[in-house]
Amino acid sequence: MRNLFRASIWLFIPLLMSTMASAQGVPVFAKPSLLLQLHIQHIFIGSSLILSLMCFAWARALRSYSMAILALFFAIKSLGILVAGGFSFFALFTSNIHLLNTEGVLLSNLSNILFFIFTVKLFTLKKHDKNSYQLLLRLAIIMTLTVPLSFVFSHSYTWLLTQIPISMSLLALLYVNRTIKVGDEALSKMFSWILVVQLSFNTIAYLLYYLSFSTQAINCLDMLSFWVMAIMMTYLIGHTYYCHLRDEKLAQQQATASALASSVAQQELLALQDESQEQLESRVQERTLELNIALQELEAVNQELKEKNTLDELSGLYNRRYYDQKILAEFRRSRRNLTPLSLILIDIDHFKKVNDSFGHLVGDKCIVEVASMIKSLLRRSSDVSCRYGGEEFCLILPETDEKGALALAEEICQSVRQQVIPNNEKAIKLTVSCGVTTYLQEKDVTPEIIFECVDKALYKAKQAGRDQVQVMPIKIVNS
Ligand code: GH3
Ligand code: MG
Ligand code: MG
Repeated sequence: MRNLFRASIWLFIPLLMSTMASAQGVPVFAKPSLLLQLHIQHIFIGSSLILSLMCFAWARALRSYSMAILALFFAIKSLGILVAGGFSFFALFTSNIHLLNTEGVLLSNLSNILFFIFTVKLFTLKKHDKNSYQLLLRLAIIMTLTVPLSFVFSHSYTWLLTQIPISMSLLALLYVNRTIKVGDEALSKMFSWILVVQLSFNTIAYLLYYLSFSTQAINCLDMLSFWVMAIMMTYLIGHTYYCHLRDEKLAQQQATASALASSVAQQELLALQDESQEQLESRVQERTLELNIALQELEAVNQELKEKNTLDELSGLYNRRYYDQKILAEFRRSRRNLTPLSLILIDIDHFKKVNDSFGHLVGDKCIVEVASMIKSLLRRSSDVSCRYGGEEFCLILPETDEKGALALAEEICQSVRQQVIPNNEKAIKLTVSCGVTTYLQEKDVTPEIIFECVDKALYKAKQAGRDQVQVMPIKIVNS
């Protein structure tokens, strides 16, 4: 920045000296020819047009409204230089000297108003510093009002009419730049320097005016001032663009970093979820397995309990409790399906003697042997053999008529008769007596009556001499 300022001073001194020389007719440095002045003017116009085009390009690239204003400012300024150099656009339409006088003021004020707009946009004054905004607005109005005044006043007064508002506006902008607290500090500093340099040039221009230097010299100084300003503004724009790119890159980097962080966090969360899901699943599996084992154990215990409840421990046949349940179920089925239901009641003959002769343990063994004999003779899966009590057995034979039951009872009698039960001292031979009865859906008959009937048949067999089968029809008992 300081270097830039120094360079502009070095650029400014020889030019100032040469303009002074040309004004006073004294060759101080080297009197620039009219042609050289023309060249310098062309260079200024060309440069400012290039700047203007560059700003337009930037305005498009950055979509920046303030940059577009600046481009317009440079364009108007280059036209102003052209007019200051002697060219007149108005001359194309009129020869009115007053109107021609107005042209320079109009372009100068217009460029200054554009510069105000640029400042307002660059520092967003409307939002951040309303007072400064109002001040610039008033100055713009004053500048607009000076344009018609130039129509009345002479050239030298007109020059003052343009210069005084310019100096005022530079001071105002300097004040604005000092008061605002927003934006980039380097940017604001650079802007201050631009204003200070411009003010310095203005002061020198006033000095030259009062020392009655030629208009040519003052114009040269004006161009030089604009040239320095253009260089500084270029740097300012470059810096703004750099800041813009830097901020954009930073924001992009931050966005990428935060996206990365959020994706990492999301992955961690997913991993955690997976882990907990797996844990949950394995725990559920474990629990299910435990529950299944417990259920199996429970089922086994239930089965055992059921068997204990329904089976007779000694003989392995069904017990009395089971008989009571089964006879009721089969009785109902027989009544419903109109199928015969037979019962056989078996009692070991003179069993007391066995117990007395060989002891109760041998007696028990005999009960087991007879029970297994009876079981082996049952052919149908629906037949049920029960130990009714002591050495008495009862067979429930569903869908079996009297004839079939009688045949089975005879077979049992014969098999037991022929059976020899091994014993240490002496082989034991037993006989059994059987009672048979068949239910054929007779009226007013209950399971108890059927049993009563079969018991009577057994009694009859005992009475008739044992080791035989007797049948007792239900109606006889019932009547
Ligand atoms: P019968 O039936 O031929 O008239 O003569 P019985 O000697 O068998 O007479 P009863 O049926 O009245 O006697 C049954 C005997 O069976 C009585 C009891 O000593 C015996 N007894 C009953 N239950 C068992 C048992 O579980 N084990 C043994 N060892 N004996 C039993
Ligand atoms: Mg008995
Ligand atoms: Mg007996």
